Amino acid sequence: MRAELKAEVAGLKEKGIVPGLGVILVGEDPASQSYVRAKERACEETGIYSDDNRLAAGTSQEDLISLVKKMNAEAKINGILVQLPLPKGLNEAEVLLTIDPDKDVDGFHPMNIGKMMVGEEAFLPCTPHGIIQLLLRSGVKIEGANVVIVGRSNIVGKPLANMLIQKNDKANATVTVCHTRTKDLALHTRQADIVIAAAGRANTITADMIKQGAVVIDVGVNRVEDAAKKKGYRLVGDVDFEAVKEKASMITPVPGGVGPMTITMLLYNTVESAKRANNLA
Ligand code: NAP
Repeated sequence: MRAELKAEVAGLKEKGIVPGLGVILVGEDPASQSYVRAKERACEETGIYSDDNRLAAGTSQEDLISLVKKMNAEAKINGILVQLPLPKGLNEAEVLLTIDPDKDVDGFHPMNIGKMMVGEEAFLPCTPHGIIQLLLRSGVKIEGANVVIVGRSNIVGKPLANMLIQKNDKANATVTVCHTRTKDLALHTRQADIVIAAAGRANTITADMIKQGAVVIDVGVNRVEDAAKKKGYRLVGDVDFEAVKEKASMITPVPGGVGPMTITMLLYNTVESAKRANNLA
């Protein structure tokens, strides 16, 4: 998909169009910094212009809102990314509502969430959309599959469940959403043709919880201590990868898999937005 997008961006450049992404990072959270760096690097590799804004942790709500409004008005910016979570004291909901829905390439504006839910064209949130693309492009049949999602966040579990139950040929799944109040998690995951783990806890999904031949998507990103690593930790998913890979027909690794797909879908939405702004989509 990255190669497809790169070619598409090159084609747009020949028409004088350069897709642009406005990036806003507030504060110094190390994980957010590394996500934003990866997104900016991906833009550069794809030929997308990125307008990078690093704001101090003490930035006021007013200053943040006025930067978003400035980007809403700028023709060279087709997408706006405000890296979440924002530092304490800033009102995330208000910031997301300020983003022009036509530039909401993260797909978090209630307008886009609502459109997605009723099956209208909208910017789809990047992580769930990336997961669906991963499945489709790996030849996994979603239609009619029993899918169990572990996690019900607004950025992964809830939108993903919604997208998978849509009545269209990229979805049509039967979906169960599990969370911390689910009585017997393994009872559900064992029935699943596709298990999607987005709990944010290492080893939430073990081999005994998986049906032979199931497809396993690991969304989780967790730090576990590892003295052998320079940083003192390593990243793992929510799935016991080594044991589950013996039973699953397909499984995504962490790092890798869902993370790079999330970034790819951000690029995809930015290119889509640039095409729409120029009446090419
Ligand atoms: P979140 O807001 O951290 O919420 C976690 C969800 O998992 C909640 O719904 C929680 O249930 C449920 N949960 C937690 N432990 C559970 C357990 N033991 N059994 C069943 N359900 C459990 O979720 P998120 O923001 O979607 O993040 C989830 C993970 O995905 C994190 O590790 C995050 O870093 C990662 N992530 C990765 C990407 C990527 O691009 N790779 C993108 C987004 C997130 P309750 O609702 O009952 O509390």
